[in-house]
Amino acid sequence: MHNLAPYAITDDTSRGRLFKEERPSGRSEFQRDRDRIIHSTAFRRLEYKTQVFVNHEGDLFRTRLTHSLEVAQIGRSIARNLHLNEDLVEAISLAHDLGHTPFGHAGQDALNACMKSHGGFEHNLQSLRVVDKLEDHYGAFDGLNLCFETREGILKHCSLKNARTLGEVGERFLKNQRPSLEAQIANLADEIAYNNHDVDDGLRSKLITLEQISSVQLFAQHLEVARQIYPAISERRLIHETIRRMINTLVTDLIRETEKNLAAHTIQTINEVRAAPPIVGFSSEVHQLNQALKAFLRTHLYRHYQVLRMSAKAQRIIDDLFGAFTQDSRLLPPHFQLQAEENCPRAVADYIAGMTDRYAIKEHRRLFAVGEE
Ligand code: MG
Repeated sequence: MHNLAPYAITDDTSRGRLFKEERPSGRSEFQRDRDRIIHSTAFRRLEYKTQVFVNHEGDLFRTRLTHSLEVAQIGRSIARNLHLNEDLVEAISLAHDLGHTPFGHAGQDALNACMKSHGGFEHNLQSLRVVDKLEDHYGAFDGLNLCFETREGILKHCSLKNARTLGEVGERFLKNQRPSLEAQIANLADEIAYNNHDVDDGLRSKLITLEQISSVQLFAQHLEVARQIYPAISERRLIHETIRRMINTLVTDLIRETEKNLAAHTIQTINEVRAAPPIVGFSSEVHQLNQALKAFLRTHLYRHYQVLRMSAKAQRIIDDLFGAFTQDSRLLPPHFQLQAEENCPRAVADYIAGMTDRYAIKEHRRLFAVGEE
């Protein structure tokens, strides 16, 4: 790490880990965080969790794993340009979706509804719970014992009620402060990644058409440019040439606007970052283009009847699993039965949230289908 800005997070200024450990040799604290995340069980499961499309619908669509890798790629490139801590951005990006349930947002909404009278279910909070508690392969501590700044970045949103129970990592929600610039970058890299790959997956799945998406200005303007340069290429290549230009526009604009905001607020230290309004962001022009793209995806992709059908099915599976396990915790695997003695609904939520799409489908069949083992 060379030439980091004075307001970047570094090993020396980090608030450190809950359980004290020796400094790593040959790598930074945040590289160690990233490495622990990659070696976690929850990270491997991301390969079989839905982003928008259920995992078995096709091998070409993004999963939570490939999504997380794209977020890390975009985030690192922004961080490097702004002289911020690339390793921290990478660690947050790779971990940001660890707490997601199977079946994407439909799964999260269903589990949240099941948990309504038991404290609710928030996927951001669950990601933190995974790295703080649920991963169990270290001798000296539960979880991965990550640095404060990585944990803070993972907890993107949080209700005030939950923030009060989280100690220092919840403080910023109560004090209305901002997280590090690295966390702000990971947050927007997430958005850049999914808006763009959902366009790609939407077109690939034929749930949206090129004609429909051409009503979105950000797409249309880059499609036009790509067509001019390559008048005779295939549609597949044309779409990629368009999307890569969209990502480039968003990333470049974000870097420029963030530099402007840093100067406008005369940011010099990490404490000033925390006290200032959000510093990482798009210009108002690109923000609007991005909002229009999001609105399009909401109407034409996320609410497409075929996606809604899948969501309804997912919801039923999660409802059934939750009902069966909370009614009789003896149906849980032994490890979760122990947890259930302490708090049954939470243990069931942890078990379900950890499932991959296909595992949830299989488990549902095992519990409900006659003739299955
Ligand atoms: Mg994400």
